[in-house]
Amino acid sequence: MARREMCHVKQLKTVCPHDCPDTCSIIATVNEEGRVVTTKGDPDHPFTRGALCSKVLRYPERVHSSERLLYPLKRTGPKGSGQFERITWEEALDTIVSRLREETARYGGETVYCFHGSGNMGVIQMNAHVPFFHKMGASQGRGDLCSPAANEGWLYTVGSLVGSRPESVAHTDLMLVWGSNMASSNMHMLAFFKQAKKNGAKMIVIDPYRNRTAKQADWYVQIKPGTDAALALGIMHVLVAEELIDRPYIEKYTHGFEELCATLPDYSPEKVEAITGVSADDVRKLARMYGQARAPFIRVGIGLSRNRRGGMSVRSIACLPGLVGAYHKKGGGAIMFTSDAFPKNMDVLARPDLLPEDTRVLDNVRVGSNLLHVQNPPINCFFVSGGNPAITAPDVELIRKGLTRDDLFTVVHEQFMTDTAKYADIVLPATTSFENFDVFKSYGHTYMQKVDPVIAPLGEALSNRELYCELAKRMGFTEDVFTLSNEELALALFPTIAADEVKRTAFLAGETLELIDFDTVFANGFATPTGKLEFYSEQMLRDGYPAVPTYREVEQEEGALHLLTPPAHYTLNSSFGAVDKLREQEQRPTLQVNPVDALAQGIEEDGWIEAYNERGSLTLWAKLTEDVPPGVVVAEGVWWTQHTPDGKSINFLTSERLTDMGWGSTLHDNRVSIRKEA
Ligand code: SF4
Repeated sequence: MARREMCHVKQLKTVCPHDCPDTCSIIATVNEEGRVVTTKGDPDHPFTRGALCSKVLRYPERVHSSERLLYPLKRTGPKGSGQFERITWEEALDTIVSRLREETARYGGETVYCFHGSGNMGVIQMNAHVPFFHKMGASQGRGDLCSPAANEGWLYTVGSLVGSRPESVAHTDLMLVWGSNMASSNMHMLAFFKQAKKNGAKMIVIDPYRNRTAKQADWYVQIKPGTDAALALGIMHVLVAEELIDRPYIEKYTHGFEELCATLPDYSPEKVEAITGVSADDVRKLARMYGQARAPFIRVGIGLSRNRRGGMSVRSIACLPGLVGAYHKKGGGAIMFTSDAFPKNMDVLARPDLLPEDTRVLDNVRVGSNLLHVQNPPINCFFVSGGNPAITAPDVELIRKGLTRDDLFTVVHEQFMTDTAKYADIVLPATTSFENFDVFKSYGHTYMQKVDPVIAPLGEALSNRELYCELAKRMGFTEDVFTLSNEELALALFPTIAADEVKRTAFLAGETLELIDFDTVFANGFATPTGKLEFYSEQMLRDGYPAVPTYREVEQEEGALHLLTPPAHYTLNSSFGAVDKLREQEQRPTLQVNPVDALAQGIEEDGWIEAYNERGSLTLWAKLTEDVPPGVVVAEGVWWTQHTPDGKSINFLTSERLTDMGWGSTLHDNRVSIRKEA
């Protein structure tokens, strides 16, 4: 395969590909040897405005890491041992195609299954595998580890994944940060709020633990994990009882106010205190601050959706702006995602028409069960791209057992020898986003950008699209999705750009583009069945959920402590494990424990402890802190197991259980116990 010839350029624009709402525009400096030597923020980007986080300021270390995979590899030792030998691309592709033909001839296409993670969020590279597996008739996946429950809860209420313009928070007088550690995972929006703060705006953070963002808040409200719906309903109770609502707005722009009101007596501040741990006085104070604010703005985080009540929690919070008419106030409203700000025709890339009818659908969260327990047919060919499920998906002991099946053929397309890659039969080297074409939209702002490679691919790395086009060719697939140029595909994906000469020229030149007017997104109604913000949803009823926001109790498994596993500050999912300096800043796999809970186990000071439940146990550094309340423990980040004391990641302790909506993960809804290390 021909390698791309690169010019000797100095400074080139690109975009951060990682799973972060900020989708920063980057200026990469490339030296005469074709190496990226520095990365800095692009000052011309309207949202990220020249700032990068500490992770991506170190991106040259990641791109040019000595740990990058440069050549295809074939396993030579036991699965999981990490023993491989170099092979050619020809041998790798021939091996894969011959195994695919053999297994599908015997079991049919459903014996193939692909887990694709969010390691590269570019529209093309993140989805390039989809038409191939549709054409194969492979088992399909539903749900994911991230935010499907949040999406569902928001969509039932508001109708599309849009909200207030993120920058407009600069004009708020009250920002509620509900379940988001913005200082670590949405820093650019926080920068806009700081403008409002200069004018006296207040920030309230609602979260189960005092994270970096909570430490900057004017008021931090600590809530029991998973009880967010009850708190939102308690606020609604007070808003309605004290007439802190916008009746003309409710009349014109919302649906089901009376039905909502009928449920609110169940959520008096006193009842809500018993559920959430937030005092009745604080529930009233919160509601009054929200109801009396000139333009209250809510930043809804997705972490709160990763539990068995996650979809309903987001739905309940999403109702609040409807009661006070916040979307019609400059600086007010709410935002969770901006994902629907980019009208596109995904079918030209995903090609759902290639998928045979009634193809089996598996839960993506249940990787271990899919590999171990699914039959008729079993999964015998497992592909992994852009993800590292052997540490990031729940119940990794089950996943490891699945990956060590002798009759399982595993192909991993990766930039590094991850925990998952160590179990592969064939490992294929993947480009970073600096080495391939892509189009980046954002889920945290409204600007998109096309990027060309800023350096040549390292070694023999191929992009996801190059890989699946090669495989398609060898399988004899002739559909144009496998042969279109990247630019042709990009323009077909975004017809509103292709049809507008000015936009098209700007897009192809790599300029930032905005496709919809986000300032007026809810000015004339909502994309729900009634065209209004739905306090009452007929669709939810049809789908088997309560039609109005509702809090329900769930049964707790054994274990004294509620485990939360939010992102770390210096790493992101498992994507930065190869950058030594960032790992050093995170120090070690840590469990934040309240001193009361520690003392109950005879743990009197920081040190190594064991955390365990019915799925297993692992060693973590206990950090005794009152930032977490009694009954809750917090482990930030996912560590590569080679950097942990016992070769285990935190997801040894999390379960495959699903969310209430959307088949999402319940990574923040697990119980553990702790004890001194033996
Ligand atoms: S991880 Fe987020 S904040 Fe950091 S550079 Fe990427 S998009 Fe920007």
